[in-house]
Amino acid sequence: MDLHSKLLADFLDRSLYQQAEEYGINYLEQAASRHVFPQEDAIENLTKFEEELPEEIGNAKDIIHLLNNYGAPATSTIVGGRYFGFVNGGVIPAALAAKNLSIFWDQNSAMQVISPIASKLESVVQKWLIDLFGLPTETVAGFVSGTMMANFCALAAARYRILHNQGWDVTEKGLFGAPQIRVVTCREAHSTILKSISLMGLGKGNIEWVDVDEQGRIIPENIPELDNRSILILQAGNVNSGAFDNYSQICKKAKSQGAWIHIDGAFGLWAAGTRRLNHLTKDFDQADSWAVDGHKTLNTPYDSGIILCRDQSALTSALHMKGDYIIIGKERDGMYYTPEMSRRARVIELWAALKYLGRQGVDQLVSGMHDRALQFAQEITKIDGFVVPNDVVFNQVMVKCSTDQITNKVLQHVQNQRVCWVGGSQWKNSSVIRVSICSWMTTEKDVNLTVESFRSALLDII
Ligand SMILES: *Cc1c(COP(=O)(O)O)cnc(C)c1O
Repeated sequence: MDLHSKLLADFLDRSLYQQAEEYGINYLEQAASRHVFPQEDAIENLTKFEEELPEEIGNAKDIIHLLNNYGAPATSTIVGGRYFGFVNGGVIPAALAAKNLSIFWDQNSAMQVISPIASKLESVVQKWLIDLFGLPTETVAGFVSGTMMANFCALAAARYRILHNQGWDVTEKGLFGAPQIRVVTCREAHSTILKSISLMGLGKGNIEWVDVDEQGRIIPENIPELDNRSILILQAGNVNSGAFDNYSQICKKAKSQGAWIHIDGAFGLWAAGTRRLNHLTKDFDQADSWAVDGHKTLNTPYDSGIILCRDQSALTSALHMKGDYIIIGKERDGMYYTPEMSRRARVIELWAALKYLGRQGVDQLVSGMHDRALQFAQEITKIDGFVVPNDVVFNQVMVKCSTDQITNKVLQHVQNQRVCWVGGSQWKNSSVIRVSICSWMTTEKDVNLTVESFRSALLDII
């Protein structure tokens, strides 16, 4: 059979897609009980994928079988309730199903003329997020792959605006000979902030570092005198402690000095959408740009991040390389708000998650993560030998033992048990285990099982 006939037969073969979906649903059904991290043999079996590029046209169903047989066992169960590594969110079923449906549409969200539905949903979600977070009404949103890209876009907008105000068009002239830009941030800034600074040509070596307090918050009094060439980068949710900077104390002054303020709120910005925790983001709306993820706290599927920026002209000029004169039509063209041109219509999952949860659902989802984090902190500190060095203000809990050596060994044992998955980090020059509660699925029982795993790991080694 020639390629076209073969493709056409596969294209209309319901059983191909149904088989894939069947495997996927089976996977979800095991999510609560399967090993959180793959077994050794599953990882060894990944050698099945090591082959030369095939010479001949393949068989679609065989490919799906292969992926299921050897791919699925080598996944981390991020969709389950006991994955606490990094800040990896679970998944809202309606969002997952919406993604599956939209995958068949294979939309490109670059322009309204390519995908009217993607353009419409981007406009709708932009409005919803401004409303939910309480951001200035002129704020615009770009839908990117994650907070790394959102931070990058924010710095591009800031760089554009600051230099433009100095009479320098960075999109034309670049940085050679440009007026200096100052970048001020805290010693606990996320590594993606540093990467964005370096990609943006601002130079990590030029950062004016500000010390943090015992919770990892920037110390307001230590922020240097800023000016209209300064970018001040704050955060909403320290990746280890979950701590939020004090925007009330910082933003008004920094704005009056003419600085651009960016807030990295990858997982923490969602606090603004809750009644219990929105005190953490008080006055954060005075910033110029914000970065947030869908795939962390909101539990959309990967990959989903959002750049929010109140200076539409700076963002679109920086990313579209056109300048202030571009006329943005009535209908939204997504590519003006992101570095990419072609992009899959990832807004669909974000829309579905927000449409499903609504204001009350977001409130319950985020508060629920906070509840589980508090529960974990309370239970783990009942056990002799474990200390929680941070205030559990959001969904992050750090755990440490009497020495770094014991902490690291406990971490290893907990990982080997595969009841849960947690990662390690450094906090105030000592080793810690990070527990990040980031899934709607995590129950009180999941927390108890996790505490038990920590307890038995500690018993194993002392
Ligand atoms: C996760 C995280 C990032 C990076 O986000 P990605 O979605 O992984 O690109 C940036 N900042 C903070 C505070 C984070 O927690």
